[in-house]
Amino acid sequence: MERECIFCKIADKEIPADIVYEDEEIVCFRDLAPQAPVHVLIIPREHIASLDDIADSAAHVGLLGHMMAKVKEVAAGLGLSNGYRLVSNCGKDGLQTVGHLHFHLIGGRGMGWPPG
Ligand code: 5GP
Ligand code: ZN
Repeated sequence: MERECIFCKIADKEIPADIVYEDEEIVCFRDLAPQAPVHVLIIPREHIASLDDIADSAAHVGLLGHMMAKVKEVAAGLGLSNGYRLVSNCGKDGLQTVGHLHFHLIGGRGMGWPPG
């Protein structure tokens, strides 16, 4: 755990969040500033700073596979039967503001494209 990381603290229940799903490897909780009727963040319990910090190791490949495999279950639990968007902002140009890998699961309205 990274001492100063907000998302590590949420995963460890040191700071509260509206958790919608969790297991041994990942935690999913509602975003504090939702951009759509449903806006949930999916994070690994392990502190990985961003997409750029994922190792090509069996452990990280397995973890990321698990995260992606759980998306449809979390989305279904949130009632997103019409679809949704999954986004991970990476680094400065990607407008990442929290340095702990996360995927935004966004839905409950029609999306626009291209993103800003
Ligand atoms: P990013 O900008 O890094 O892609 O996404 C970070 C997200 O984390 C933002 O959508 C922001 O609203 C959310 N966020 C930041 N701090 C907190 C917090 O303490 N609790 C929750 N639930 N969400 C947070
Ligand atoms: Zn962290």
